[in-house]
Amino acid sequence: MRGHWSLDADVLSRKDYGPMGIASSSSVQGIKHERSVPQSLKRGAAQMCPACGNGALYTRYLKVADQCPACSEELHHHRADDAPPYFTILIVGHFVVTGVMMVEDYFRPNYWVHALMWFPLTIGLTLLLLPRIKGALVGLQWALKMHGFGAPEVHEGPPNAARPDAD
Ligand SMILES: [Zn+2]
Repeated sequence: MRGHWSLDADVLSRKDYGPMGIASSSSVQGIKHERSVPQSLKRGAAQMCPACGNGALYTRYLKVADQCPACSEELHHHRADDAPPYFTILIVGHFVVTGVMMVEDYFRPNYWVHALMWFPLTIGLTLLLLPRIKGALVGLQWALKMHGFGAPEVHEGPPNAARPDAD
């Protein structure tokens, strides 16, 4: 676990967050548009850029584009880490285990029938859900301005660049 999937303290302390930590409309430093959480989740789950909804989120299966090809929004700030597999396992696991128990209860098929059903279903569902769940999480991080998302020029530049008083 790399453990980056948390809100940064400076993000939490910003004034533009409501009681749920959700960005309200935003007159904040340099950010002109509102970031809707449900819309960003939806766009991310559709594997599209959370900012514009037009550019593809991924360059490969799970490789998030550094920038949106349509609106140039920086997408490399995401820290989805192991949250997408965690949620995927949670969902697929509950679905498959429930299914196995119900089918066994009602039909008592041979074990090879179980294997034939559940193996492909488990793998297929996992491959189907993983990029969508990861996309939704990237969208959520973008909407909540977590990590580097939405911060006006806070990239690590030369150490003295951001401190005019440094000499
Ligand atoms: Zn975009």
